[in-house]
Amino acid sequence: MSATHNPTFDLARYESLEKDALVRRVQAVRAEMGPRLLILGHHYQQDEVIALADLRGDSYGLSELAANSEECRAIVFCGVHFMAETADILANRPERLAERGGLRVPVILPDLDAGCSLADMADVEQVEKCWSELAEVIDIDDVTPITYVNSAAELKAFCGRRDGIVCTSSNARAALDWAFQRRGRVLFFPDQHLGRNTARTMGIPLEQMPLWDPRQDKLGGNSAEAIRGSRVILWRGFCCVHQRFTSYDVAYFRAKYPGIKIIVHPECMMEVADLADVVGSTSKIIREIEQSPPGTRWAIGTELHLVDRLRREHPEQEIHLLSNESCVCSTMFRINLPRLCWAVENLAAGTPVNVIEVEPETARWALEALRRMLDVK
Ligand code: SF4
Repeated sequence: MSATHNPTFDLARYESLEKDALVRRVQAVRAEMGPRLLILGHHYQQDEVIALADLRGDSYGLSELAANSEECRAIVFCGVHFMAETADILANRPERLAERGGLRVPVILPDLDAGCSLADMADVEQVEKCWSELAEVIDIDDVTPITYVNSAAELKAFCGRRDGIVCTSSNARAALDWAFQRRGRVLFFPDQHLGRNTARTMGIPLEQMPLWDPRQDKLGGNSAEAIRGSRVILWRGFCCVHQRFTSYDVAYFRAKYPGIKIIVHPECMMEVADLADVVGSTSKIIREIEQSPPGTRWAIGTELHLVDRLRREHPEQEIHLLSNESCVCSTMFRINLPRLCWAVENLAAGTPVNVIEVEPETARWALEALRRMLDVK
């Protein structure tokens, strides 16, 4: 198998190939590398990529599966940047490295521009500034930082260093419970909606959840009194895909399809979550659909590719996207067949491209926060 060391030249060639040829070539690499190669496909990926994935799942589930694979020697992560970072941290954690005699598992992201707009709404400098300002008005030792897994490795490390924790959309409630058993307040970033939707289920009133806007000069735009009265300080971040679902959409689908059930991801806005029949992570959404009786009508508030796939896989149910617009994760969409083929052929040729490797000290502390997340699952 041939590959050049010039990724730009390589990629241009791949982009001119027919779909069938690309599929054949990816399959040839899979056959050649066998279980040493794991291609991971996030639920929001396009179908032609998912069809070639060894495992499909949500971000943390995929990383965990890959990290626990005995035979895996390389991961191609068809997802976004923070997912590849998490996979690198878990797959190359000290005990796994020792088992492999120090051999690292490279984690490859087929397009380095596949980021996450939500993750990009908080960086470590902003969060450190927030932490210092909070320390001026409240006892900072009484605050637990919680970062959603959709965040940069530096933010996970920030939490690891300060006895904080990472959460997923599945275990956000458990992470908040864990935090409140230890301390009186939480700083939750970067997704305000997941934090707010989860804290409300615990009976925490909105007045005790000030919103921290990192673009504001002082105290994130809050008064010192608001911060002193807080229990959960929410970061002003959001997912541009899930924030598109509105209470108008819920009313529209309920009026148009009598008896319809509304299920939404907790990254949706509070007013949408409040009107839904079910609020849950990607995995929970899939489980609910799988377990529903034939003939159930659903409007689903999550990314279009997953909704379309559920509709095809469950023809016995009536499934709609909870919007008349197209809610696509455009960064996830950057991973396509040419890029996947380019990535796996370079890997097989011994010239891996787009390897995501988290700096060791960051990985060490991020792993602390990820391990706590596993403990509270
Ligand atoms: S759907 Fe939203 S949270 Fe998920 S990767 Fe895309 S931008 Fe990020």
